[in-house]
Amino acid sequence: MAGTPLEEIIKAEIAASGPMTVHRYMELCLGHPEHGYYMTRDPFGAAGDFTTAPEVSQMFGEMLGAWVAAVWDSMDRPYFRLIELGPGRGTLMADVLRVLGHAGAAPQVWLVETSPRLREEQAQRVPSANWADRLQDVPDGPQIIVANEFFDALPAHQYLIDANGARQAVIGLGPDGTLSRGLSGHRPAAVDQPVGWQERSPATDAVAQEIAARLSKSAGALLAIDYGYTSADRPDGPTLQAVRANRKVAITDQPGASDLTTLVDFDNLTARLTPLASHLTGQGAFLAAMGIGHRAAALASAVPESANAVADALERLTSPNQMGTLFKVLGAVPEGLPTPPGFAGDAHA
Ligand code: SAH
Repeated sequence: MAGTPLEEIIKAEIAASGPMTVHRYMELCLGHPEHGYYMTRDPFGAAGDFTTAPEVSQMFGEMLGAWVAAVWDSMDRPYFRLIELGPGRGTLMADVLRVLGHAGAAPQVWLVETSPRLREEQAQRVPSANWADRLQDVPDGPQIIVANEFFDALPAHQYLIDANGARQAVIGLGPDGTLSRGLSGHRPAAVDQPVGWQERSPATDAVAQEIAARLSKSAGALLAIDYGYTSADRPDGPTLQAVRANRKVAITDQPGASDLTTLVDFDNLTARLTPLASHLTGQGAFLAAMGIGHRAAALASAVPESANAVADALERLTSPNQMGTLFKVLGAVPEGLPTPPGFAGDAHA
């Protein structure tokens, strides 16, 4: 198969400057202004490359809407900004706003999105939105921030740590001139790095720190959903993966035409959100606590022909075999505030 235009650009950069870090590779594949994955296409849905929770069913966004409404109510109903990071097609925000309308909330909506192509999609579903390239560009004040499958799409460095130090995963050219993954030479590892594979996303850390700073100044909350792990279920190997047409492919396959993601390290995210109090649970448990079972029953009885589709969507969003436990929900609020809805148990700092 012929290489993508971006593959030629990447090969030229490697030929000129040597192997590039996996971080640089992800940055180009996802964000190259002309050929980056998100810049050129709408990857969501059955005909696309992957399906995200808001595209599975309106119930997902409705449960998030109920969460936003409850948190806003607990803030004594201020005028507020509702901010979404990486809003995809805008489906989630449209579903959330419908619920908020019923609850009497009319926030100013901000979508943080770098892709012009996806901004067009979002404008169709959320005509009232404002857009920003970065969270820093959204005005401060009372705010609730939501993000679904945003952090997994940010470029990450990969390191393999052993007794001799850290080697960085790089993309170079194999003997036959194709892209291939390799490792740099050893460098001293940072003191806190355990042996094994590590993935670190500077952009994730920066966004989390920005959220912590904003919510330390103004009332508000964060709800972030993503596939990822904690120390309790941390995978052994590197988690970077490529997906095209709903199938896993090699990370060097068709650069710019395949989605690249890493699993989110929720322990790291929680640490970067300090001093906020973070609460973490599985997507299945969260949606159940927010009442998705009742919503599914109501939808199925309102439109009996849809009962099977509703049951399938419920299963897909909540079952431990599907999105129920690999996907995790992180709720963060300023320290000292009560646990937000949907999270049983105590805050972990
Ligand atoms: N939340 C959506 C889409 C998830 S895909 C859903 O659940 O369907 C990731 C989204 O983040 C896309 O909208 C992509 O264009 C956007 N994105 C990726 N990198 C970004 C960045 N650095 N800043 C802002 N948005 C980004």
